[in-house]
Amino acid sequence: MIIEELREIVGHDRVSDDPAELYCYSFDSSYIRGNADYVVRPQTAEEVSRIIKVAAAHHVPIVPRGSASGLTGGSVPVKGGIVIDMGSMNRILEVEVDNLQVLIEPGVIHRALNNELMKRGFFFPPDPGSSDMCTVGGLIANGGSGMHSVKYGTVKDYVLALEVVLPDGEIINTGCKAPKTSSGYDLTRLFVGSEGTLGIITKARLKIHPLPETKAILVATFGRIEDAGRTAVTVLSSGVVPAAMEIMDGSAIDAVQKIDPSLGLPDVEAMLLFEVDGYREAVARQVEKICEICERFGGRAVVAKNKNEEERLWAARRLVGVAITRLNPGKVRVYEAEDIGVPIKQVPFMLKKIQEIGKRHGLPLVTYGHIGDGNLHTGIAIDLKNPDEWKRVHAIKDEIYEAVLELGGTVPAEHGIGVIRGSLMSKAHGGGYEVMKAIKKAIDPDDIMNPGKMGM
Ligand SMILES: Cc1cc2nc3c(=O)[nH]c(=O)nc-3n(C[C@H](O)[C@H](O)[C@H](O)COP(=O)(O)OP(=O)(O)OC[C@H]3O[C@@H](n4cnc5c(N)ncnc54)[C@H](O)[C@@H]3O)c2cc1C
Repeated sequence: MIIEELREIVGHDRVSDDPAELYCYSFDSSYIRGNADYVVRPQTAEEVSRIIKVAAAHHVPIVPRGSASGLTGGSVPVKGGIVIDMGSMNRILEVEVDNLQVLIEPGVIHRALNNELMKRGFFFPPDPGSSDMCTVGGLIANGGSGMHSVKYGTVKDYVLALEVVLPDGEIINTGCKAPKTSSGYDLTRLFVGSEGTLGIITKARLKIHPLPETKAILVATFGRIEDAGRTAVTVLSSGVVPAAMEIMDGSAIDAVQKIDPSLGLPDVEAMLLFEVDGYREAVARQVEKICEICERFGGRAVVAKNKNEEERLWAARRLVGVAITRLNPGKVRVYEAEDIGVPIKQVPFMLKKIQEIGKRHGLPLVTYGHIGDGNLHTGIAIDLKNPDEWKRVHAIKDEIYEAVLELGGTVPAEHGIGVIRGSLMSKAHGGGYEVMKAIKKAIDPDDIMNPGKMGM
């Protein structure tokens, strides 16, 4: 019996087939649902390897899971099988500040890693809105990013090396400790963003950065959303490199204000939030330049005066995702058409286009996101039982995706493919998708690693 074999590996306490417990593993943060047959919580790569060998012998799917904060059904067991909960492998194994790197297990929570690094004057720059809950392994597997990618890059730019357990149970190492290498195919990058379809990441060596000497947070308000878009494009081409540049449209501001009126946000059509960091003199110059550009486009920029104000502004931005349903009480947010990336120059056009599409289909779209790297999120809340609203969501999604691909952009920009966006892969990648499928077949010929994801 599979359960007996799993108990043999991890003992009685770290495996379960209890329906109540399995229910907790049947979803992530999207609306996708599945049914696990077993859940296991390994503590070492060797245990992961032995679990995978059991699954392979019985032809049972394996579904790696971090914190299930994913928005696409990536860690949902849509074809049943064994969910491997990586949350117990959460140790920070080595912090080598003089080598600018850290070695971790994948289950460490993003915020916990940064809390530890900050004590030593360092940080891991990719900064997702889900920092308090997501695992770094989940972030790597999803090719995620967040607020700071405009200056510091995305997770893929930070992974030096990985330990991975393959679908036949073999444990391999990719990459090295050196800051760069030109040795062979880049297997590390292959596993980054592979969403658990090629293997399970059991260790990751990551680059880290020294904390900047200082930073400043600015907020700029605009009467027209396109002006906020134009400001963003102009700032980026002016030589200023903000650490973060975020946008909230009028409805996002309204939603957040409804959740927390004490934030005192302005009643405007759009708001840009900038963070600039570095040496004091450089930060002052950048602040000056940003204020000047905002004014040129009719915006009003204000610099946060103290830590409290800075935290208040970031709190407002982090609240948007959950605040959206406040605009439509009783409705549920669906993560559809929510994560697009367009070339920077096209941001003002796309902002306007999103508003126009939402209006035409009679569903307001709350727009916010990492405008500095062309990554916009749209929030839609609907009654899940209303087929007409679903029909409109799908029409909106199709139109937005069509526009994004025509502009040479991407869907998704950071949230991954999972179940929800599998059908897009062929259109987005053409022949490239056939190569991806061939790679999957070569590494996982029996399709046991996270089946039903990425359209495979
Ligand atoms: C409020 C909110 C804000 C968010 N903001 C952002 C944001 O700013 N940027 C961003 O990128 N994302 C964001 N997300 C999405 C989500 O947090 C990320 O996708 C995150 O990377 C998922 O991590 P997780 O640990 O929850 O992984 P899960 O959701 O459990 O899994 C995600 C995928 O990774 C795979 N996986 C997990 N662990 C491993 C492993 N060890 N080996 C192999 N595969 C593995 C799973 O099978 C699945 O395919 C947000 C989500 C929420 C709810």
